[in-house]
Amino acid sequence: MIRDAARDFAKNELLPGVIERDTHQKFPAEQIKKMGELGFMGMMVSPEYGGGGMDTISYALAMEEISKIDASASVVMSVNNSLVCYGIEKFGNDYHKHKYLVPLATGQKLGAFCLSEPEAGSDATSQRTTAIDQGDYYLLNGTKNWITNGGTADYYLVVAQTDKEKKHKGINVFIVEKGWEGFEIGPKEDKLGIRGSDTHSLNFNDVKVPKENRIGDDGFGFTFAMKTLSGGRIGIASQALGIASGAYELARNYSKVRKAFGTEICNHQAIAFKLADMLTEIEAARYLVWKAAWEKDQGLNYDISGAMAKLKASQVAMNVTVEAVQIHGGNGYVKEYHVERLMRDAKITQIYEGTSEIQKIVISRGLLKD
Ligand SMILES: Cc1cc2nc3c(=O)[nH]c(=O)nc-3n(C[C@H](O)[C@H](O)[C@H](O)COP(=O)(O)OP(=O)(O)OC[C@H]3O[C@@H](n4cnc5c(N)ncnc54)[C@H](O)[C@@H]3O)c2cc1C
Repeated sequence: MIRDAARDFAKNELLPGVIERDTHQKFPAEQIKKMGELGFMGMMVSPEYGGGGMDTISYALAMEEISKIDASASVVMSVNNSLVCYGIEKFGNDYHKHKYLVPLATGQKLGAFCLSEPEAGSDATSQRTTAIDQGDYYLLNGTKNWITNGGTADYYLVVAQTDKEKKHKGINVFIVEKGWEGFEIGPKEDKLGIRGSDTHSLNFNDVKVPKENRIGDDGFGFTFAMKTLSGGRIGIASQALGIASGAYELARNYSKVRKAFGTEICNHQAIAFKLADMLTEIEAARYLVWKAAWEKDQGLNYDISGAMAKLKASQVAMNVTVEAVQIHGGNGYVKEYHVERLMRDAKITQIYEGTSEIQKIVISRGLLKD
């Protein structure tokens, strides 16, 4: 039912206008509002806080369907669900949950997750943003880069260094509200793909963050970021899977109607074998995604399975979208047929929430343990 609801929504509400939004880098504001009303923005949050109370498998199914049509909308959904809502529900206190989680889970407000900086991407421990303890508030200063929902969010989870001496154990995470004095939103990035999502740098100049807006004990910020990203990767893996399966479906359908040398191109074995390879790889990625989601739902450790799912699904998304363009021939190279957009969108899944190289570090460290 969840998959069908997401599929119908994507077809009816996201497909119209998806090319235009991509061309003009237009944020799908109305569509995201509707997704909130339908419960897609806080799917796994407990009903006590206005969420859907669903499991990670359901979330992965919905993410796949939304991503088949519009990966820009699905990254907005992914950040809000698996980074922001999850982080606050899992590690926040009652105050954080009632004040911030409820509006985020019900889709009335939108969240952003702010870890990356100009000098801290893969190496997230190199935080230069500082939050200095001033008694009843922290003074926040610094720059964050590449923040999804950067301009459109209402609430921002901001990671910052509070005690440099303690290195990553001196990092904290704070809930910061848009509009607070000294909080400036930088220009929007002009991107290769997921162009409907808005990505900005953020500047904090002496922003006063109330003490109660720190999540967890002093020094918990780095662990918070790593634990949250671990689940986030299941969301991005589902996004990659959706991009791949969307491109595959378009290519399959096209191959059954396009004729060359007197027959539909799917009757040429070179094309049929491409489709066979594409679907086999998609299925392999899908089971890795579901395994990671299932492990999370069972309360098992999913650090490695989540990294494997993201590594594999993002590679499959790249390979399958390139082949989908190839199967479309010249038509694959123009916007009208959607596959060129999916090919551009696929690339980001190998970069954000930990590059493919970083996923291999996570997996190899895990397999070498003990
Ligand atoms: C569109 C978009 C949206 C984003 N959204 C967010 C967001 O909402 N919030 C947020 O905090 N961040 C966000 N990011 C940032 C993203 O997570 C980082 O870009 C990513 O983690 C990589 O960091 P970097 O760009 O600094 O690359 P670098 O860390 O400089 O990496 C450059 C290259 O070196 C490789 N590399 C680095 N270290 C190693 C190593 N030890 N071993 C092997 N290879 C290595 C990397 O894999 C990569 O290929 C977003 C980025 C983009 C492009």
